[in-house]
Amino acid sequence: MSEEHFKSVISHAKEYGFVFLSSEIYDGLAAVYDYGQNGVELKKNIRDYWWKSMVQLHENIVGIDAAIFMAPQVWKASGHVDGFSDPMIDNKDSKKRYRADVLIEDYQEKYRQKNQKEITKAKKRFGDDFDLEQFVATNPNIARNNAKIAAIDERLKAGLESGNLHLVRELIEELGIACPVSGSKNWTDVRQFNLMYSTQMSATDGDNKIYLRPETAQGIFVNYLNVQKTGRMKLPFGIAQTGKAFRNEIVARQFIMRMKEFEQMEMQFFVSPGEEMEWYQHWKDHRMKWHLNLGIDESKYRFHDHVKLAHYANAAVDIEYDFPFGFKEVEGIHSRTDFDLKQHELATGKKLQYFDNEKNESYVPYVVETSIGLDRMFLVLMSNALQTEDLGEGQSRTVLKLPPALSPFQCAILPLVKKDGLPELAKKIMKDLSLDFNCYYEEKDSIGKRYRRQDAIGTPICITVDHDSLNDQTVTIRYRDTMDQKRVSLEELHAIIEKEVSMKALLSGLV
Ligand code: ATP
Repeated sequence: MSEEHFKSVISHAKEYGFVFLSSEIYDGLAAVYDYGQNGVELKKNIRDYWWKSMVQLHENIVGIDAAIFMAPQVWKASGHVDGFSDPMIDNKDSKKRYRADVLIEDYQEKYRQKNQKEITKAKKRFGDDFDLEQFVATNPNIARNNAKIAAIDERLKAGLESGNLHLVRELIEELGIACPVSGSKNWTDVRQFNLMYSTQMSATDGDNKIYLRPETAQGIFVNYLNVQKTGRMKLPFGIAQTGKAFRNEIVARQFIMRMKEFEQMEMQFFVSPGEEMEWYQHWKDHRMKWHLNLGIDESKYRFHDHVKLAHYANAAVDIEYDFPFGFKEVEGIHSRTDFDLKQHELATGKKLQYFDNEKNESYVPYVVETSIGLDRMFLVLMSNALQTEDLGEGQSRTVLKLPPALSPFQCAILPLVKKDGLPELAKKIMKDLSLDFNCYYEEKDSIGKRYRRQDAIGTPICITVDHDSLNDQTVTIRYRDTMDQKRVSLEELHAIIEKEVSMKALLSGLV
């Protein structure tokens, strides 16, 4: 069922102009995607919601827009040149390269599927009396499969955490994992493979390797002092940024979940040492509130604490969403200590400190960061919003129940017929509303068909102009979610839309 739902999300995204495979007419470029005419609007609105909630609603947070190219030494100092890698293994026969941990995870997936089969069988057998929780807790086959999954997890973790990749290779051999392409078990050793892309900065210099940033955060760290001084910022304060990041993800799967080129929305919050745990808790709460304010059910979200912390972090948690393929990270909140600024001090010999008037001392601030993938958030919203509704009598409709302010269009303006002066009045209404909202205008096809098309791209309100509108200056408003209709006067139209579908209405849930 959920796999099916995921497939419908992908095909809906393509069919309705949200997401296309990059360079599709050349058969596409793996794990790279383009946003279409509706996708670009939804993506922009998510970015705006993030930016306004983080920057506009916080007097002590400002934004920057750093370049994608940075001095290559940045990535040495940050640890990315030496440490930003995935464990890879090659099959000697097919010459294909895989992420070793993903091969193992795929193997575990077989046990999960076996469990699913047991559940489906039992559901059929017990019918209405079926109690999923009880069945999962007591069925011996499921218990056996889960124990196998857990034992593999433990061994994989031991290999990865100790850095002894030989253990990971041993596990692959012991489980008898074969290459999906050649079918052979003829594997190389497991080696770490760096995720950063590089290119040349100039055509003339010899040694001019430069990286495409794998995260936006470093652009903030290297500008810390510029912003602090020119903005006369006092601790605690934050710097926010949205922008492209690039990672050579070998196993790019699951649509826009894991891409080679993607967009991040990050905020680094600089605080006095010792205050970081308080702010960590604050941002953890605040970020979850941001997600839930979108009207997504609470049960779809959870926190996942990192068991093993990166060497620079003293606390880290992921916000996970229940995707059609299970709970996965959408956002990370990390207490990064003073690691990054100190590394850049060491590498450059320049002080990146803050003079604290109250304490009368200088120190390197600590950092709490919030880091969310814009494309993953896009997928959260699409997966959550797409529904097929049974309307009875063999009828159904596909509807995208996006948060109204984030929908590509806030309203559609539809003259009932293409004559008698209705288009003229509709266009007049459109001209007025377009100053504040993204409006869709359409006069072709029956009104029913037009409503369905708007449902499918998530337009929360349709405004229908009919012959009565010419006489009494009223129009029909039709709501996407309930399909309810009401008659309103042109005078009150703007205020109604403002109240129900504006970004202001959405943001007000956060203040
Ligand atoms: P994952 O474990 O899923 O690879 P990560 O822990 O490497 O993610 P971070 O480095 O914390 O991710 O990056 C912050 C956010 O950027 C993630 O929460 C995710 O939303 C997004 N992100 C990271 N890698 C990708 C990618 N390849 N494609 C799309 N979004 C990504």
